[in-house]
Amino acid sequence: MQLVFASHNAHKRDEVHTLMAEVWPSVDITGPHGDAPVEYGDAFVDNALIKARVGFADSGQPTIADDSGICADALDGAPGIHSARYSPSGDDADNVSLLLENMEGVSDRRAYFVCVAALVDADGELTIERRWYGTIAEAPRGAGGFGYDPVFIPDGQDHTAAEMTVSDKNRVSHRGQAFQALAGALIERYQGV
Ligand code: IMP
Repeated sequence: MQLVFASHNAHKRDEVHTLMAEVWPSVDITGPHGDAPVEYGDAFVDNALIKARVGFADSGQPTIADDSGICADALDGAPGIHSARYSPSGDDADNVSLLLENMEGVSDRRAYFVCVAALVDADGELTIERRWYGTIAEAPRGAGGFGYDPVFIPDGQDHTAAEMTVSDKNRVSHRGQAFQALAGALIERYQGV
């Protein structure tokens, strides 16, 4: 079974390849093919479907994609769908700095990551949304992961997501949970293929 993962984010590809190798060892994941599409949607689900539809159109193969981000309660859900380009540069370090700046002196540190995983193939479309709840740290910690991982403390933990291994993060994270559920649905859909 061959699947295209339509993501231009190498960290996401690392997470999803690790997860798929654990839950569905026989699947062969390639991609992305072509350029990253413009994400013009105003919801995670819209942007996940845009990426998966373009990937399917480019490759002709069943395509998975995701859209994800972090939402802080005290910032009315920002950065949200704008997480990747929250700061003018869009660099992970600048995005984190801007988030910490906007959260300075804020006592409500509640936040969650969201991931919508999408599949598009000849039979239609499927989307699955999962969240990972926690709080925003006062300062970055940890060298692993990507994006906002150094400032995200998962509920019930005292470490940040950047202090977790890829496999441990996959077991509990928004993307890990969404793709575990998607893999289950795909194995059922393609059983015998
Ligand atoms: P997307 O590639 O348009 O889905 O943008 C996702 C952005 O959200 C990333 O560039 C990160 O800034 C942030 N993000 C999503 N998932 C994670 C995660 O697991 N850890 C840290 N940051 C994440």
